[in-house]
Amino acid sequence: MTKRLYIETVGCQMNVLDSEMVVANLRQHGYEVVQSTEDADVLLYNSCSVRQMAEEKIYSAVGEVKRIKEAHPDRVVGIMGCMAQKDQAKIFDRAPHVDLVIGPGQLHQIPDLIQQVRAGSGPQVMVSLGRKEGTQEDIRRSHETFDPLRDPSMRPTPFQAYLRIQIGCDKFCTYCVVPMTRGPEQGRRPSEILLEAQTLADQGCKEITLLGQTVNSYKYSEDGTTTRLADLLRSLHEIDGIERLKFVTNYPKDMTEDLLRTVHELPKCSPYLHVPAQSGSDEILKRMKRGYTIADYRAMMERIHKFLPEASVSSDFIVGFCGETEEQFQMTMDLVREYRYKNSFIFQYSVREGTKANERLEDDIPLEVKKRRNNDLLNLQNEVCLEDNQRFVGETVQVLVEGPSKKSIKNGDDGPVVQMTGRTHCDRIVVFDGNRRQAGQMMDIVVREALCHTLIGTVHTKHLGPQVFQLA
Ligand code: SF4
Repeated sequence: MTKRLYIETVGCQMNVLDSEMVVANLRQHGYEVVQSTEDADVLLYNSCSVRQMAEEKIYSAVGEVKRIKEAHPDRVVGIMGCMAQKDQAKIFDRAPHVDLVIGPGQLHQIPDLIQQVRAGSGPQVMVSLGRKEGTQEDIRRSHETFDPLRDPSMRPTPFQAYLRIQIGCDKFCTYCVVPMTRGPEQGRRPSEILLEAQTLADQGCKEITLLGQTVNSYKYSEDGTTTRLADLLRSLHEIDGIERLKFVTNYPKDMTEDLLRTVHELPKCSPYLHVPAQSGSDEILKRMKRGYTIADYRAMMERIHKFLPEASVSSDFIVGFCGETEEQFQMTMDLVREYRYKNSFIFQYSVREGTKANERLEDDIPLEVKKRRNNDLLNLQNEVCLEDNQRFVGETVQVLVEGPSKKSIKNGDDGPVVQMTGRTHCDRIVVFDGNRRQAGQMMDIVVREALCHTLIGTVHTKHLGPQVFQLA
C-alpha cells in the first residue's frame, strides 16, 4: 500500500539536499509525496538552528499539526535537521505530539525509525555524538553522509542539483552552531562524488552546485594522495552533459590561487564566488573568531580580481554582533562600498545556545539598533546592485532557463507565453517572456532593463536579433 509523506524544509541548501535524499529513500519504501498535511501518514519537518526565527518557524508549523495527530494517533510526526541535533529530547517538552527527533547525521535511519514508532516503541530520538562525547573517530563516524540517492522530482528544477562534497565544520566561529549540529569537517570520497555527478548528468542535470560549509577547504586523502576542490572541479568538468559548476559556501582564507586559476581555466566553472566577510572590522572578526583580518580578506579579493576579473562576488554579513560600535558597523558599510558585492545576505545577530558567543560575550546591541543597521546595510547593498546591474543593459547574456518566474506562477499564467526566469553564469537572475518548453535550455537574452535583483530581457535569436513575444 502506498504511504503518504509530507515534508517541509527551512534553512540552507544543505537542508534542501537532505530533504531530497530523505524523499528518495522513503520512495524506495513505498512512500509518495503529498502537498497537504491533512493527507499525510508521515509528516517531517527539516529544521534549521542558525537563528531563533528559523526554530520558531518549525515549532509553529509542528504546532499546527497537533490537532491532526490528536485525531489520528497513527500518523507519525518528526523533526529532523540541525534543531533536532541541538535540542534532542528537549523538543518533546515543547511539542509532546512529536514522535521522531533525527539529527542531520542520522537521516538514513528514518524508514526504520518510522517503523519503530508504528510498532508501538514510542517516541524515538536518533542523533549523532556531540563534539565532546567520544573519540574524534567515533564522533566523525556518528555523522554519516547520506548522499547516494537522488530524486529529481524533489529538486527546484530537474536540470539543477546540489551535490554535497563535505559535511561538518571545524572553524568554530563563535556565533555559529553548525560545528555542533553537523559535526567535524569531513570531505566525501572523490570517487563517490564523481559517481553521483554522473548519476545527476544521466538524469538530465546541467548545473551542479557543490555544497560544503567551507567548500573550498575540501580535501580528501587516500593512498598518499590528497584531492582538493580544484582537483575535483577538473574531474567533474569532464562529465558530458554537465554545463555549469558552482560551489558554495567559501571560506576567505582557503580561496587559494590554485583554486582561482582552476576556475579561470575551466569554462564550465561559474565566475561566481560566495565568500562571506561577515564584518568589516578586525575587532569584530576577532570576536567572531573568523580566523582572518580585513587585510587577509583584501588579499583574497586581489587574488580573485587577478584570476577572475569578471567574477561576481557575494557575501554574508552579521550586524549587531556583541559589542559592535557604530564605527565598526561603518567599516562593514565601507567594505560593501569598496567591493560592490553582487548581493549580500544580511542577518541581525541572534544569540544561539551552545556557541562560544553565548557563553563568553554579551548580546548587548539593542534590537532597534540591529534593525537599523540591517536596513542601512541592505539599502546600501541594494543601491550597489541597481547601479552594477545597469551595465548589463543592451548586453546579450546566456542564461540557463529555470522555468516560469515567481510572478508568473503567482499570477497562475497558463497561456502559451509566460514570463520565464533563468540565471547567468555569474548567477544573475534574468526574466523574459518565453514559453515553458524553454526550461532547461541555455538561451541568449538581450537585457533591456535592470532592476535591483533582476535583469529583464528579450530572447535573442542569432539571425533575427531580439524576439518580442506578445503576451496573450
Ligand atoms: S565557517 Fe563559521 S559560520 Fe561557517 S559553518 Fe563553520 S563555524 Fe559556522
